Amino acid sequence: MTTSATRVLVLNSGSSSVKYQLLDMRDGARLAVGLVERIGEAVSRLVHTPLTDSGERRERTGPIPDHAAALKAVAEELAADGLGLDSPELAAIGHRVVHGGLRFSAPTVVTDEVLAEVERLVPVAPLHNPANITGIRTARALRPDLPQVAVFDTAFHTTMPEHAARYAIDTEVADAHRIRRYGFHGTSHAYVSRETARLLGKDPSEVNVIVLHLGNGASASAVAGGRCVDTSMGLTPLEGLVMGTRSGDIDPAVTFHLKRVAGMSVDEIDDLLNKKSGLIGLCGDNDMREIRRRVDEGDERARLAFDIYIHRLKKYIGAYCAVLGRVDAVAFTAGVGENAAPVREAAVEGLESLGLAVDAELNAVRSGEPRLISPEGARVAVAVVPTDEELEIARQTYSLVTD
Ligand code: AMP
Repeated sequence: MTTSATRVLVLNSGSSSVKYQLLDMRDGARLAVGLVERIGEAVSRLVHTPLTDSGERRERTGPIPDHAAALKAVAEELAADGLGLDSPELAAIGHRVVHGGLRFSAPTVVTDEVLAEVERLVPVAPLHNPANITGIRTARALRPDLPQVAVFDTAFHTTMPEHAARYAIDTEVADAHRIRRYGFHGTSHAYVSRETARLLGKDPSEVNVIVLHLGNGASASAVAGGRCVDTSMGLTPLEGLVMGTRSGDIDPAVTFHLKRVAGMSVDEIDDLLNKKSGLIGLCGDNDMREIRRRVDEGDERARLAFDIYIHRLKKYIGAYCAVLGRVDAVAFTAGVGENAAPVREAAVEGLESLGLAVDAELNAVRSGEPRLISPEGARVAVAVVPTDEELEIARQTYSLVTD
């Protein structure tokens, strides 16, 4: 496929929201960004920000009943800025798709067959894949002639060796139900591990990196020479680190116990572990800014929540040092990783024997740029590398339609 068009629209469709960005792939510049939220509720909201010189942020409220109406409204806003979806400049639409299973290890042009396979994965991603599918179907209906590309959150992790990807459960049961560790946030881990290599002046194939994606959802990955060899999320995004509202690792027997002893249903346990656990379950807040404020005021519950969060993070850093053997860099990214200096400091505190340390002054710098925060001459570089999932989705989409 070839194209002389240079724009890519990136769509991230959630169950009741659509986030979008229009990028010019000649330089990766944003032309417009926006969000439609509360789709299907009485009052929906669209916030559209053109980033061209003349544009101004605009907001609409009112009912937007479904994704088709949402995308139509987005198309109208873009058209008002001369950036309409009917423009010959638009090369493709790139869709974030959460679960690609084992089949999709690379960005893929959407066909009916691809959509059917993404649909078959709904049982392992019941919260995300249906919304992603709706987004793709809606965009296809709007521009049936345009390549629609699916970029999968799981794709970067498909290089994990079997010994890291398989759970130690009965193989037949696992295979029958496609139970294995898939990992998520792959677009971010791919982007950040590559940008970290660039920061070190090296090719990704030359470096081993631990990426800590710490947002409201959080995951770690061990990346050896540009390939993911382990990651902390599993069959679903519930496994691994302590997150804003997810427990991360727990003894699976906790779930049987909650059912047998507390009489909770499977749905209630699912809700407890995904939405009412992690930082919010521990201290009532999931925003790290608020937790740090409370810690600074001497709040014991917030302190314990912070300590549990850090303890888990340290365990994963240590584990991935062991998995990788040689570590060149540890990169912090996403909302918490990019902004919370106390988290970064605490996460590597006491890990000097692994070559890890942060320089207090460098760690305190606030910047949107990739930067090193380890002391000069440190054996392992510690870095803050802002993630950019939309740019990565756009790049992968564009390279597929121009190659
Ligand atoms: P994300 O999921 O990557 O958008 O990250 C969202 C989370 O980042 C929020 O829930 C906050 O906990 C955290 N966050 C954002 N800004 C800051 C900040 N300045 N300091 C500490 N945490 C922050």
